Amino acid sequence: MKSCIFCGIASREAQASLVYEDALCLAFMDLFPMRPGHVLVVNKRHAQFVHQLTPEERAHLFETGNRIGQALRQTSLKPDALHFNINDGKAAHQTVPHVHLHVLPRYEGDLLAFAGGIFGKPLQMLRGGTKRTVLDRQAEEIRLALGFRSLH
Ligand SMILES: [Zn+2]
Repeated sequence: MKSCIFCGIASREAQASLVYEDALCLAFMDLFPMRPGHVLVVNKRHAQFVHQLTPEERAHLFETGNRIGQALRQTSLKPDALHFNINDGKAAHQTVPHVHLHVLPRYEGDLLAFAGGIFGKPLQMLRGGTKRTVLDRQAEEIRLALGFRSLH
């Protein structure tokens, strides 16, 4: 098993509910979502910080995040708004040392639920995260909106 969980997901050594994949990028459901439909987009090549990516990788990461966000808007989750967020370094709350773009659905008036997502994360981690079946269903819906049916 690779020491980096996101590299492990990219090489299929670790399980994830995959949303999208191409030569450079991978997108999957966050196991500990701040809100339902929380997707992470990562470059396949390991790098901890944004500045360590090539210009092409940086551009592709955001372009992919944008496509995922537009697909999310078409799902039954119907977010009112989205976060596109990168925590670049430990002091900025980067919890996995592999660059990842959060694409996070938000809703009018969901601040309390959003805060609950932040403060409830340790509890979620103790419980092992969101059920795989729930994440797989969300991933499938986003994939369909993207126009991809299956991933191998
Ligand atoms: Zn990695």
